[in-house]
Amino acid sequence: MKFETLCVHPTLDIADEYGSITTPIYQAATFAHKGLDNDSLYSYSRLSNPTRSHLEDLVKKLENGASCTAFSTGMAAITCTFKMFKSNDHFICSSDLYGGALRLFRTLKDENYEFDFIDTSDLKLVESKIKSNTKAIYIETPSNPLMNVTDIEEVAKICKKHNLLLIVDNTFLTPYFQKPLDLGADIVIHSGTKYLGGHNDTLAGFVVTNSTELGEKVLYYAKTIGACLSSFDSFLIERGIKTLALRMRQINDSAIKIANYLRSLPCIKKVNYVGLEDNPGYLVNKKQSMGFGGMISITLESEELARKILKNVKIFKYAESLGGVDSLITYPMYQTHADLPIEERLEKGIDERFLRISVGIEDSEDLINDLKEAIYG
Ligand SMILES: *Cc1c(COP(=O)(O)O)cnc(C)c1O
Repeated sequence: MKFETLCVHPTLDIADEYGSITTPIYQAATFAHKGLDNDSLYSYSRLSNPTRSHLEDLVKKLENGASCTAFSTGMAAITCTFKMFKSNDHFICSSDLYGGALRLFRTLKDENYEFDFIDTSDLKLVESKIKSNTKAIYIETPSNPLMNVTDIEEVAKICKKHNLLLIVDNTFLTPYFQKPLDLGADIVIHSGTKYLGGHNDTLAGFVVTNSTELGEKVLYYAKTIGACLSSFDSFLIERGIKTLALRMRQINDSAIKIANYLRSLPCIKKVNYVGLEDNPGYLVNKKQSMGFGGMISITLESEELARKILKNVKIFKYAESLGGVDSLITYPMYQTHADLPIEERLEKGIDERFLRISVGIEDSEDLINDLKEAIYG
């Protein structure tokens, strides 16, 4: 079955006797067993729930995985994944990552987890950082917010050689554009809050694994920690996924136009978008994915201009988050990356002049005009 069809017709059958076209919401904490020694398929919703299972099966198939667990947020998914490891284990991570992941890793350092944050597009550097206690490599590609690209297939080869797990946060491109497990990754993480849900109305997270053994470990910690996705939110994310392919195509088309427009303006000093041919990650991204997504970050000529844009935009909203139907602009230094130590933040160029744009599904000319009027109006 093709991706678009699968998005609308997940195949795990829990249809009710009434022939409901949509997945029923099983709003039940517990499930009665048929009798002693005759258990029902479900027992308690922290462990599993039919509505959630239906969604998990769908996301597993979209990512070509062996198993999938849904969480209440993307951060719960990442936290649970790291529960599989223990103190004195070492991890190699992309230095540019979602701010919440960086904050989690800082708290794990206090529990003696060891981290090296490096430029994971540099494969020699990646291999040189491997130690006897290294357990996994954790990447985002493109990364948040600088849009750095890492070669998933090449890093996966290094992982196989040294018996490490490769964990990829695939939130930005989604399985519509990029399937890390097919490229050799072991674990894919999603903030389902973003493109999968797609409507800025529901929080969710996913961990998809390439083996059922790994999947069982994740499920063990998921039920132990209890950060599971509710049945109603499972329904909303599943409904969002029905239009994932359409949204991603529209967003990708608009983002290319917007990135090219922004690049033509002298007041914009730098445009980070993996769909621009002169972007350092362009070729690797093109090789490993079917599209560029809708995330753009820019460095403006002045802080004043950044403030002016955020004050004047009408269609774009000044808000945290990304990946929804509505176009958003984020001020990373005050929002997503506010908890980063200041030297680290400035070294990356996440300063007063730096904004991150999430392109939505509105008409691209309207979006470009909105930016034009905000800048020059
Ligand atoms: C938002 C985000 C997360 C965290 O997800 P939540 O659902 O907000 O907890 C993780 N990774 C990336 C790349 C994100 O954009």
